[in-house]
This record gives sequence, C-alpha cells and structure tokens, in this order.
Amino acid sequence: RRVARRARGPRARADAAAAGARRGGVRPGVTAMHVLVTGAAGFLGSHLCDRLLADGHRVTGVDNFLTGSPRNLAHLAAEPRFALAELDASAPGAPACLTRLGTPDAVLHFASPASPVDYHAHPIATLDVGSLATRHLLELCAATGARFLLASTSEVYGDPLVHPQPEGYWGHVNSVGPRSCYDEAKRFAEALTMAYHRARGVDTRIVRIFNTYGPRMRPDDGRVVSNFCVQALRGAPLTVYGEGRQTRSFTYVDDLVDGIVRLLHRPPNGERPTAESAMPTNIGSDQECTVAELAALVLELTGSASPVERRSLPGDDPRQRRPDLARARATLGWSPTTPLRAGLGPTIAYFRERLAEDAGAGARTLDAASAAV
Ligand code: UDP
Repeated sequence: RRVARRARGPRARADAAAAGARRGGVRPGVTAMHVLVTGAAGFLGSHLCDRLLADGHRVTGVDNFLTGSPRNLAHLAAEPRFALAELDASAPGAPACLTRLGTPDAVLHFASPASPVDYHAHPIATLDVGSLATRHLLELCAATGARFLLASTSEVYGDPLVHPQPEGYWGHVNSVGPRSCYDEAKRFAEALTMAYHRARGVDTRIVRIFNTYGPRMRPDDGRVVSNFCVQALRGAPLTVYGEGRQTRSFTYVDDLVDGIVRLLHRPPNGERPTAESAMPTNIGSDQECTVAELAALVLELTGSASPVERRSLPGDDPRQRRPDLARARATLGWSPTTPLRAGLGPTIAYFRERLAEDAGAGARTLDAASAAV
C-alpha cells in the first residue's frame, strides 16, 4: 500500500500537503513549528516542504534558483502556510534578510548544488553555501534559539576505504580534487555545525544523505539516475562511466524525507537535546547496486532498446558506497522501505511526463518563432 501511495507521484503528494494545510492539523505528538528551509526549490528541498506542510507546520522557503526551480514549488502558490523568498543565503546581506523572514523554530539547510555536474559548474558558490551560508544560518539559530539541521552527504567519506560506511569513519577525501569543492564544503559545514553546538549551545543535527532519486530531479542534472532515465526514454545510448562496476545505494526520496523528519523531531518535543543527537546520522538505502546493474534495470523498466555506451570514468569517482544504518535504525527507528525497482516506477513516470511537457513547450516555441518570421 505504501508503494502504491507513492506511485501516485508528486502531484498527489502536493494535494495531500494542501489537504493537510486545509485541515490545519498537526501530526499527533508534534508541535506546529515555523520551519525555514534553504534550497526549498530544489529536488530534496521541495519534497521536504511538502512533507512539513502535510505535517501541519508553517514553512518559509529560501532559494536563489541557482540549481533549483520555481516549478518544483508551483503547486504551493495558494498555500497560506507557505512563503518563498528569493535569497542567496551566502550573500553579505543575507543575515539581515533572513531576520526579516520571521523567527523560525527550526532551520533546515538544504541549499547547495549537489550533483557532480552542478558543483563542477559552480565550485565557488558550492564552497560559499557550505561555509558562508551555513555560518549565517547558524548565527540565526544562535540568536533565535531555533533548531538547526544540516543536509550533509555521503561525499564526506570520499572514496571510502571502509565498507559499508558508519558515521564514525572519517573518510578518504582528496582536498584538491574535482569533487573537493563539494566534499570539503560539506565537511566544513559539519565542523561549523558542531562548533556552534559545542561553543554556542545551538541545538543541531546533521544528516548524511546518500544518493537519492525520485520525481522532481532535473532531467539535465547529470546524475546517473536522471541521465539513464532520460537517455532510455529518448532512445539515446545509456552513458556508463568506466566499467560500470562502481556501486551506489539509491534511496527513494520519500524514504529519505521520512528519515530527515524523524531526525528533526528527535528527541521528542519538550526533551532536551543530547550530545549524541548532534552527531551525524546516515540516511540512505542499503540496497547496493553497480552502475551497470542500474542501467540494465532502467532499460527493463522503460522497455527501451537504447544501447549502453562506455565513457571514461571521472576523476576521484568513489568506487563503492553503502551506508551503515545501525544508528538510524537504533535512534530513529527508521529503515528504507522502497526497493529500487519500486522507486524507479514513479521516477520514470515523472521523467516521461517532464520530457513530453518540455517537447510540447519546444514545439510551441518553434510555432511562435515560425509565425513571427
Ligand atoms: N555515472 C555514469 N553515467 C552517467 C552519470 C554517472 O556511469 O551518465 C556514474 C558516476 O561515474 C558514478 C555514479 O554513476 O560512479 C553515480 O554518479 P552520480 O553523478 O549520480 O552521483 P555521485 O554518487 O557520483 O555523486
């Protein structure tokens, strides 16, 4: 039933969020909060906003639209408990602007280019949002008493020498390599978060997010799931980098959001946070698969006859990745529940719809252009 509910896709979830808003109710055991979400127009941020609204909270989204898109939030345009501010949280003027958005009870920092293609295109903005924006938001939390949740990443483990990766593993990261702008930005953001927790008493938590996929990914974000789905649907070759033997553990977005919300509310309302609740928690799937296996699965599920084409492996591409989930299971009672095959269904349906929409828009533009000639 759970998967069937998910298979209705983002539009149905948006309706559910709107229905939650109309009810004005809050999930039992949860106090309604004002939550500030940076990166709200991104893939993860927009799903997070939907879930928080469905839970009865008030949400202020912040985004500079560098890699996010207003279309991800278009369904919330008439939602009275949602506001969106176009703002670069890294900019010198950001602290004053953030203060004007109203006092938050919690700040969820999800702003950052996050796919390798995006952070290669925007390396300095990536370092800025991990450092300057994180600092601005932590200062806001220190001043208001708001809880802070940092979206960190499995990239802090680099090309890991320990497998699977527990939170206690310190990682194997190249500080000057092609991924360093993202990896080190997130490592710095984690260090800054712990410093504000220890030195300023801010109530903080850190989620280390593993590869996540689902509706609202950008077709051109360059990630392997989006590339393969789009290529298969277009009948183009699936671009497998290297031998395709490198592994990832792909997490369906609803599972991820559920883990994050549990982390946000732990410990339950009214209890004091502990030193342990500030430590990072891995959230991700532990169903590991090779890139070649993913290509085969996408071809099967789309029914595509696309060939597979080998490309060179990018520098510092991690060879393996799978979270050790012992902490998430023990402290949050959370486990991933969506098998890759089940999650790819609604994801492929979304890309199919998106490509059709984009093709329609392209055709309309061509019509308009030829009418103007
Ligand atoms: N990859 C691939 N073909 C693509 C895009 C990515 O083979 O078209 C590989 C990439 O080299 C990496 C894995 O798929 O080993 C996951 O890449 P992605 O960019 O999705 O995320 P990463 O985990 O590397 O940040």
